[in-house]
Amino acid sequence: MKIHNYSAGPCILPQSVMQKAAEAVINYNNTGLSILEMSHRSKEFVDVMDRSVALVKELLSVPEGYEVLFLQGGASSQFYMSALNFLHKNGKAAYINTGTWSAKAIKEAKLLGEIEEIASSKDKKFNYIPKDYVVPNDVNYLHYTTNNTIFGTQFKHVPETDVRLICDMSSDIMSQEVDISKYDLIYAGAQKNLGPAGATLIIVKCDALGKSGRTIPSILDYQLHVAKESMYNTPPCFSIFTCMLTMEWLKELGGVKEIEKRNKAKASLLYTEIDRNSLFEGTAAVEDRSIMNPTFVLKNDALNADFLSKSIEVGINGIKGHRSVGGFRASMYNALEIESVQVLVDLMKEFERVNE
Ligand SMILES: *Cc1c(COP(=O)(O)O)cnc(C)c1O
Repeated sequence: MKIHNYSAGPCILPQSVMQKAAEAVINYNNTGLSILEMSHRSKEFVDVMDRSVALVKELLSVPEGYEVLFLQGGASSQFYMSALNFLHKNGKAAYINTGTWSAKAIKEAKLLGEIEEIASSKDKKFNYIPKDYVVPNDVNYLHYTTNNTIFGTQFKHVPETDVRLICDMSSDIMSQEVDISKYDLIYAGAQKNLGPAGATLIIVKCDALGKSGRTIPSILDYQLHVAKESMYNTPPCFSIFTCMLTMEWLKELGGVKEIEKRNKAKASLLYTEIDRNSLFEGTAAVEDRSIMNPTFVLKNDALNADFLSKSIEVGINGIKGHRSVGGFRASMYNALEIESVQVLVDLMKEFERVNE
């Protein structure tokens, strides 16, 4: 039976990518070596790194003056690292709190200085994106999270500000077009749209670095990683290699513009059914709905277990909502095909017919 993988992360990757990755684990490009056992200083792997960086720049139209890094530590390491590099000694930073991940970023940054939470949607269980806020102009930067993986909300506009802008794009990177020139730092864990867990993508504006007035430990210093081209220490080689394969797949398919079209079609198909079906309702404010992680509930939660077991019967994997929200979450990352969304929609229709 075909499995429709709605896992929130690590998550679905293109079949062709996994096939190529599997082959490279056995014998990389007829070198007789596995990608797992090659030196990161070898010509073969340096080529992988160079190609990965070039693909990020191409797919996201990264302008001059930015550097692309692949580091370890996940997006969670960036909560602290970003503040350490951007929050000046005795400085101040502004954060928008839209849920679990931004709250964690705030917690780490508070270890380093004064943090102003300028807006929060905590009052309504993070089911919307705050819109009325003012970014103070005496802060070193504004930090926000584009897509709220757990609560199913997503910024539809880049916040207007003159201060530096830092963004956690872990769960919607390369799912839609973005104007990189508005940002000073973007970070994303690989395991949602890019590849397997292990690598962290960073896009940083070079002129923003070296201004914090702090002594930064080597492993947490963007400037050092830029100088060493992500090879200060051993990079997560296999994860980066598989990210490269995913980006090649994305390029082949027509790039970010094309995947955005497909992602919007998938989201529209599911949200239309959530709104039409008398048994279900969406949990996020309509105008702020995520195209990556739609969240929804059964109005009668006594039906939850039945719906979940029926979903497993048709090959749907991973739609149980995050433990902090309940209900359901259908994570629809780039590699999920619209046919899989149709299977879920058909199931919802059938479930309504049986239970109404
Ligand atoms: C998954 C996720 C994270 C955590 O990423 P790790 O790589 O596990 O540290 C952070 N932010 C967002 C928005 C996420 O979706």
